Amino acid sequence: MHKTKKIKVGTTIIGGGEKISIQSMLSVPSSDFDGNIKQAIELEKSGCDILRVAIPNKDTVKIIPEIKKNIKIPIVADIHFDEKLAIESVFAGADKIRINPGNISSEGIKNITKVCRNFNIPIRIGINSGSIKFENPNSKILAENALENIKILENLDFKDIVVSVKSSCVRTCIEAYRILNKKTEYPLHIGITESGTEKTGIIKSSIGIGALLLDGIGDTIRVSLSADPEKEIETGISILKSLGLRDGATIISCPTCGRATIDVVSLAEKLEKELKNLNKNIKIAVMGCPVNGPGEAKGADLAITGANGIGFIFKKGIIIRKTQQEKLVEEILNEVKAY
Ligand code: SF4
Repeated sequence: MHKTKKIKVGTTIIGGGEKISIQSMLSVPSSDFDGNIKQAIELEKSGCDILRVAIPNKDTVKIIPEIKKNIKIPIVADIHFDEKLAIESVFAGADKIRINPGNISSEGIKNITKVCRNFNIPIRIGINSGSIKFENPNSKILAENALENIKILENLDFKDIVVSVKSSCVRTCIEAYRILNKKTEYPLHIGITESGTEKTGIIKSSIGIGALLLDGIGDTIRVSLSADPEKEIETGISILKSLGLRDGATIISCPTCGRATIDVVSLAEKLEKELKNLNKNIKIAVMGCPVNGPGEAKGADLAITGANGIGFIFKKGIIIRKTQQEKLVEEILNEVKAY
């Protein structure tokens, strides 16, 4: 894995092989301070590591200290067009600034870097295919644009940088990050931008982010969905857990077929919901019948296998008891607690 530079964002480190952080963005209208604070608290609870907030005007800068009073995770101010908003956000307590250098003047960039340097605040250069001057830019153009902007900041003696090169096209996005990864040591914020509605976006983001993480590329992730931002966090956690990059419960469940004698679907869903915030690495298999049940149970820490309408509970592949379907969730949760 290509080790990137460590960048400090509030109390969190991005890069250098540190834990891959999950980001999301507040989606409540910027003018609704109470709504933003409420959503920020919910996102922190659901596992968000770094939270971004849009700062479209002077009035919304005031929201930064208000949010910070209520959460512990770092906050990133998302700025377009107006460098004064970036500077004021730093004064207001933002832990990182995200800019798209293409829409801020060179004098503006100079002023932002000066203040960020004084306050030790990093900048994310956020390049999006929709915001650079070429129509449908390819991966090479995206990566080159990011490298040019890195150079601009470095020439201003600013090196506290995180970079992203997002596209809504999964292939373009993956290729752009692969090019960039070979040419920079700055940590990469990865994600598929504007990936779509919940169902499509989860698929596109999982493919894109997953492929990059498997290549060892990516220091922080954002799943971008036209949906509740809590879904972005849930998906981010699932992607990291699927690749063994985050601790938690993994539920293995069979697709069920005519042989199933217990309700695998509802059992697996209930367990997944109950264990979603567990920080313990544990694998639980839920299998409908003895065809593959004992086999999967061997590879799991705990397992349920249905047989003749009854559930058998396994621990490390050995049956420890049998129980009625209605009691299975409760019993397995007790086993998880004790594990
Ligand atoms: S474990 Fe049994 S119920 Fe589940 S898919 Fe396989 S054969 Fe069907």
